[in-house]
Amino acid sequence: MTGLPVLVAGGGIGGLAAAVSLARKGIPSLVLERNAAFDEIGAGIQLGPNALAVLDAIGAGARVRERLIPVGHLEIRDALDGRALVRLDLRGAFRERYRAGYGVIHRGDLLRALHESCLESPLVALAVNAEAVDWEERPDRVEVRTADGRRLQGRCVIAADGLHSRFRQAIAGDGEPVPSGHATYRCLIPADRMPAASRVDGAVLWAGPDCHLVHYPLKDRAVYNAVVTVNDGSADTARGEAVPDEEVRARFDRIGAGAAAFLSAGTGWRRWTLRDREPVATWTKGRAALLGDAAHPMLQYAAQGACMAIEDAAALAGHLAAQEDPQAALDGYAAARRERTARVQRLSRWMAAEVYHPAGTAAKRRDAMLLGLSEERLLDHLAWLYTPFGGIA
Ligand SMILES: Cc1cc2nc3c(=O)[nH]c(=O)nc-3n(C[C@H](O)[C@H](O)[C@H](O)COP(=O)(O)OP(=O)(O)OC[C@H]3O[C@@H](n4cnc5c(N)ncnc54)[C@H](O)[C@@H]3O)c2cc1C
Repeated sequence: MTGLPVLVAGGGIGGLAAAVSLARKGIPSLVLERNAAFDEIGAGIQLGPNALAVLDAIGAGARVRERLIPVGHLEIRDALDGRALVRLDLRGAFRERYRAGYGVIHRGDLLRALHESCLESPLVALAVNAEAVDWEERPDRVEVRTADGRRLQGRCVIAADGLHSRFRQAIAGDGEPVPSGHATYRCLIPADRMPAASRVDGAVLWAGPDCHLVHYPLKDRAVYNAVVTVNDGSADTARGEAVPDEEVRARFDRIGAGAAAFLSAGTGWRRWTLRDREPVATWTKGRAALLGDAAHPMLQYAAQGACMAIEDAAALAGHLAAQEDPQAALDGYAAARRERTARVQRLSRWMAAEVYHPAGTAAKRRDAMLLGLSEERLLDHLAWLYTPFGGIA
């Protein structure tokens, strides 16, 4: 192998996790981030045991766990009448089966933990204000061009440049992400403003009709992360614009008193529209490969987009360490990751349609399905998802 670094385009959760994973395997990398800092806007993120186990394995687990809230349960409630449809205790049988546990964390804290792990390693170089524009193949390397005219040499390039990946167009060529018709509003609610029924040490997921509301504690439980989504056909390109509180309340005018009490505690909402893509077979081109949302953007309903990016990162490092030829290693990585991530993309759409947004008879069908699930069967259903890499190393 040459001494050239792996070039990573994008310093989000996926890109930084890739750099940490590569360093763990003794492989140098250079992360190019177009923004002026490695930072995340937005609020919380749920981390399943599959991602936490991988973070432990790549050596970032302790830093993440310093900031993680290991919530006690996951709960799906009917947004009309407040009934609990499913309640999964995350401590007892769950913890016995998934030793890495389940937690929630502020996105900025997760990124900081990964950033600190990068800074600690002499094998990771980080560049901000470095927008990767394209790459050219050379016989023994790649050359990545940045917007300010730099030409950087690497053994290969990993496109971790997110949902609107520029590199994806050159690799998969499948156009723009697909609008889901769903708009999401997010804010943080101080714990003392949360209604008592929602001030719980768990992730609460309110279901339908045509809407989905989520809250869980963050920042030492001082605030609650609120993420509320409505299926209103939105197809604009909102990315975090501030909106009046009244707009949010008006959008959720069909929910019951319990969900409405939580919603009305929120102020300072911001709005995003949600997009994903169909799974694609093509993740690589020569010495370039996609990772994270660039490879498999998914709706947020399974809370697994970042978890899959973290799994990708460790899988990528494993293949690059095991295989001398970078192109063959990238092809091996893509082959190992495609099927699992496609399944999670499809699961996320299914959860939107069948679990979180149904109304009327479809909601009754959902209720019957969820209320009939024993804890053991639920844990069995989740095994493929919550076992790192689906159990295939
Ligand atoms: C409402 C919502 C809730 C979610 N909740 C969860 C959850 O609970 N659990 C979970 O696992 N996932 C969740 N996700 C998904 C998760 O946020 C994403 O899957 C994850 O952030 C993807 O990380 P990434 O690094 O691939 O992409 P990004 O986070 O988009 O990072 C891409 C980075 O690349 C940079 N960049 C872009 N283009 C270039 C370029 N040309 N050159 C250099 N840098 C570039 C960007 O500035 C950015 O820093 C949620 C998503 C949404 C929308």
